[in-house]
Amino acid sequence: MADRSPLTPREKQDIERLKDAGVLVAIDENQLRLEQSNPRRILVACRDGHRIWDLMSFQCAIYGSECNHPVLEHGGSVILGGELPEHLRCKKWRGASFPRDQVLLADIAESMAVKETLIIDNYAHFPCVFCRMCEFSVLQCMARHALAKDRIRTELVPQEMQSQSGKVLVTCHVHVDWFGHKKGDPFKTYFFNRKEFSRWLKENPHEPTPETQLLRAA
Ligand SMILES: [Zn+2]
Repeated sequence: MADRSPLTPREKQDIERLKDAGVLVAIDENQLRLEQSNPRRILVACRDGHRIWDLMSFQCAIYGSECNHPVLEHGGSVILGGELPEHLRCKKWRGASFPRDQVLLADIAESMAVKETLIIDNYAHFPCVFCRMCEFSVLQCMARHALAKDRIRTELVPQEMQSQSGKVLVTCHVHVDWFGHKKGDPFKTYFFNRKEFSRWLKENPHEPTPETQLLRAA
């Protein structure tokens, strides 16, 4: 069953730990607005209707771009960072099966071509109904979020562009609904520091998953 309840104490604790460790960094809006000048950006996120409006308005406010092109799929980039449970691996429609990760990658690739940009902003969010359906923990989602960045770069950015700094940018953010989704409750979006998270996994006790193990080893 879909679990739409607010963050559990365990989820809150895990997010707090990463905040305290500098893995999740509060974003200085004014600073970023000055630094990021690319006019076209692709935004990859979960389409959760209770939260996407806040995430989109954050994206538009912080990057100030003329175009923030959304690519929305349940779970967002988290579905790209490893295997999904068998019963959720594919979307099914009229007897046909569509692997979720392939559908999302195809949508991102098409968006990059349509908007002629290599700038991609990835968002994970908590709590996420789809991630709970997959029974992913917060740390597992964070690891998948990090691995999704690698996969997007490897599979979607042309080889000859990989080394062109400034033209290719894949960022990671985490949107948190700390209080539930009642009207008027505040949300918060953080920058996700992939390097710090890998270091954190090596230095702190946690329940290992295939994704956290992979990231630890990287
Ligand atoms: Zn979601």
